[in-house]
Amino acid sequence: MVSCDVLIVGEGIVGCTAALAATEQGANVLIIEKAPQNVPHANTAFSGGSFRRVSQAYPAEKFYHDMISLSGGKADPELTKIMVEASQKARDWLTELGVPWTSKSRDPGASDQVDGQGKALAQILRRAVADRNIKTLHETEASSLILEGKKIAGARVSTKEGSSEISSKAVILAAGGFQANPEMVTRYIGPGGNNLVLRGSPYNTGDGIRMALEVGAKIDWMDDFHGGLIHYGYRKYLAEGAMAGMRSMKKYEVGILVNQQGSRFVDEGEQASDKTYAKFGKIVALTQPGGVAYVIFDSATKEIINPDYTGPERGPIEASSIRELAAKLEIDPDALYETVTRFNSSIEGDKCLSLNPLKTNFARRIEGPVFLAYKVTGGFTFTFGGLCTNTKSQVLDTNLQPIPALYAAGEIATGIFYGNYAGGSSLPRCAVYGRIAGESAASYVKQ
Ligand SMILES: Cc1cc2nc3c(=O)[nH]c(=O)nc-3n(C[C@H](O)[C@H](O)[C@H](O)COP(=O)(O)OP(=O)(O)OC[C@H]3O[C@@H](n4cnc5c(N)ncnc54)[C@H](O)[C@@H]3O)c2cc1C
Repeated sequence: MVSCDVLIVGEGIVGCTAALAATEQGANVLIIEKAPQNVPHANTAFSGGSFRRVSQAYPAEKFYHDMISLSGGKADPELTKIMVEASQKARDWLTELGVPWTSKSRDPGASDQVDGQGKALAQILRRAVADRNIKTLHETEASSLILEGKKIAGARVSTKEGSSEISSKAVILAAGGFQANPEMVTRYIGPGGNNLVLRGSPYNTGDGIRMALEVGAKIDWMDDFHGGLIHYGYRKYLAEGAMAGMRSMKKYEVGILVNQQGSRFVDEGEQASDKTYAKFGKIVALTQPGGVAYVIFDSATKEIINPDYTGPERGPIEASSIRELAAKLEIDPDALYETVTRFNSSIEGDKCLSLNPLKTNFARRIEGPVFLAYKVTGGFTFTFGGLCTNTKSQVLDTNLQPIPALYAAGEIATGIFYGNYAGGSSLPRCAVYGRIAGESAASYVKQ
């Protein structure tokens, strides 16, 4: 039987950072990954590579406040504080591994971006793992955990050859969320969730959550997820993003969002798009007719709004009047004309405080000479719910007691994101807690 000190399930940023940290502490580590080596897998590889972290321009208090307020006060204060305070250190640590950064920040001072985005990040992390002689077995799918008394002692796996067992002194679950599992999405989020466009890895099917539930783990916040406002082309031409990840719309807050009936339905200027795109994607997909909407703007803001989409029919759709634009979008021309006219006439400064919904920032008149639109829909980026863990990344049971020798981090774990999301904050969450999981598991096996 194959055996190791620490068995890690999943080869994304959490699996790799945990493996590197546990190895540094002297543990003998094995990673198993269910996807084949040479197909895109792990949301890490699909990500845009934005990495939010503390800096002089973005102090820890502001980052912490963003996390707590965007979650509607639900984010666990301790888990959040640790993530925020270690975010700069995590970035430094990735830099030491060779991760290059660009200055193409969406939110200057708040997040950096990996040069080469998630594809490069995943490659560098996997190379770092291989360079330290940490073995990764691909096409090896964990199916259940092995219990020895109350303690986890490895996992059952299936491979092309059949089923077998891997024994270990500790297991770290780094298998991502359940967004690619339609049955779990229906059960926990509702059938509408399956109408969203899966933005990332098809392998994140909630296996780790199911396996931990079978040994008594506590789960929470299973009804919520990161949506993402994306160009409609990603739905129509799925292959465009299926191999590389689907980027979200940027800076749409300088325009207005209307539905197929020509009506506004959100405060587009509630915050910068970096702090609304995750929830607006959900709102469009789950609540608006046909699961679509349109960003309407004009020639003055054409260079600001970036659909971040390179596929066919990338737009923008152009017209010389609002009525002509409406006809192209199959919206009732009178309805769109009325919406834009009321919007323009209610702007005071950069706000529309007499409208319902309000537009509280970034309001600019839409007056041509060219009128433009992007068709958008909702993506499904990753689930917010999952395993309850403590600050050492130990998986908790339903009495909130650690399950001996079981650790989890990243997308598979809950407690930090709910309701809304600040762009670029999952990767730091994963890097910080991936390292903590690796260190905790290594120190446990040394005892
Ligand atoms: C399109 C897109 C863009 C994003 N952009 C950003 C961004 O710019 N900034 C940011 O902070 N976050 C971003 N995110 C979110 C972020 O990428 C993820 O939350 C993060 O990478 C998750 O890391 P992880 O290690 O937890 O999971 P993953 O990287 O998804 O890794 C999980 C791995 O586990 C494997 N696995 C699953 N089940 C099993 C099993 N039974 N046995 C063995 N292996 C298994 C999977 O195949 C996968 O390889 C983005 C996500 C997407 C989809």
